Amino acid sequence: MVGMQILLIISAGIAAYKSLDLLRRLQDHDITTSVILTKSASEFVTPMSVAALGQGRVYQDLFSLTDEQEMGHIQLARNADLILVCPASADIIAKMATGLCDDLATTALLATDCPIMIAPAMNVRMWQHTATQANIRTLKARDIMVIPPETGQMACGEFGPGRLPEITTILAHIEDWRAESQAGGAQKAKQLVKKTAIVTAGPTHEPIDPVRYIANRSSGKQGYAIAQALRDQGAAVTLITGPTNLPDPANIAVRHIETAQEMYQTVLDSLPADIAIFAAAVADWRVARDHPHKIKKHPQHSPTLTLQETPDILHAIATHPTLRPALVVGFAAETEDLVRHAQAKLIKKGSDWILANNVGQDPAVFGGETNQITLLKKAHADKITREAWPVMTKDAIAKRLIPHIITALQI
Ligand code: C5P
Repeated sequence: MVGMQILLIISAGIAAYKSLDLLRRLQDHDITTSVILTKSASEFVTPMSVAALGQGRVYQDLFSLTDEQEMGHIQLARNADLILVCPASADIIAKMATGLCDDLATTALLATDCPIMIAPAMNVRMWQHTATQANIRTLKARDIMVIPPETGQMACGEFGPGRLPEITTILAHIEDWRAESQAGGAQKAKQLVKKTAIVTAGPTHEPIDPVRYIANRSSGKQGYAIAQALRDQGAAVTLITGPTNLPDPANIAVRHIETAQEMYQTVLDSLPADIAIFAAAVADWRVARDHPHKIKKHPQHSPTLTLQETPDILHAIATHPTLRPALVVGFAAETEDLVRHAQAKLIKKGSDWILANNVGQDPAVFGGETNQITLLKKAHADKITREAWPVMTKDAIAKRLIPHIITALQI
C-alpha cells in the first residue's frame, strides 16, 4: 500500500488545530489525503488552512451540488484505504455508534466499507462518561480502531485522560496498521499453539509500612501487549502483573501480585513454560525491616530506611538448573550508553535476548503508547547480534517480536 490514500474527518474540538500538523506530516509518509471538515470543526480550523496544508480537496457540505457532481459522498467514503477521524469528538463517536448520519462526515462513515480509525479527544468527564465508554466498546466490537487518548492537562484546565495523542503517536498507529495490512498478518495460521508462556508486567510495590510503598512509573502496557500477542498466536499465557490500571486481557491467566517476592514465587509456581518474557519493572530494593504499624513523624529526626535487594527473577529463572524455559527474554531500560549496558545485562542475567529501550531520551516511554527498541540476541560463539527498531507502538513491538520467537523455537 505504497502511496496510501486517507480520508481524514476533522470533527469539532480544541484539538482540531493539531489535525493541520497531521495533514502536513502525512505527506512525509507518502500518504495523500482528502478531508471532510464537520460544520462545528470549521469553528476551530478554517477550510482555507486545511486546503493549504493538504493536497486533496476539502469537503464540507452534504448537499453541495458541486461536490456531488465531482464525487458523491458514497464514492468519497469508498475511495480511501483508511478513514481517520481526528480528532473524534464525543458527538461524532455517539453518532457512529448509533448509525446517525445528518451531515457529510457521518454519512460517509455509514456508507463506507473501508477500515476506520478514530483518535478521540474531549474533556476528561466526557471521555469517562458511561455513554462515551459504551459507544467506544460498540465501535471496537465493530473492529473500528481506537487510538487511546492521552492523560494530561486539558485545555479546559482539568487533568485526566482525553487529550489528543501526539501526532507522532497517531502516525505510529497509521504505520502499524499499514504494515499489518501489507503483511495480511491476521489470516496466517496461529503458530504458537501448544506453547506455554509466562510474561511479567507492571511495577512492583514494596511496602515501607502498612500504608506506604516504593514503586515506579511502569504502566504495564508493554508486558500486557506481549502477553496478548502471544495469546493471539495460540500460546497458553500466564501474565504475572504488578498493580496497573489496565483491564485483565481475555483468555490469559492473569495473576495479580504486589511485591517482587510475590512475583518471583508466582513465576516459579507457573513454570514449566516454553517462553518467559520479563517485562516487569521490578523494584530493585525493598525495605529491610518490617514495619507493622504506620511510621510516625518525629519532630527531631526523620526515619532512615534500610533497603535490601529484591530477588532478581530474570536471573534466577534464566540460570535455573531444571526449570529454565527454552526462550528467556529480559528488558533493559537505560538512561545512557544503551547498547553497552544492554550487552552487559544480556551476559549478566543469562537470558537469550534483551529488549533495550532508552528511557532517558524519551521520558514518555514509561506509561506512554510508543517505545523504541534495540533487540540484542546471544548468538553462537558468544557473539551478540543487535537490531534497532524504529519508534513503534507497544502493540506493534509485541507483534514484531512474535516471528523472532517462532524462529527461536524452531517452529
Ligand atoms: O537489572 P534490571 O532491573 O535493569 O533488569 C531488567 C530486567 O530484569 C527486566 O527484564 C526485569 O523484568 C528483570 N528483573 C527481574 N527481577 C528483578 C529486577 C529486574 O526479573 N528484581
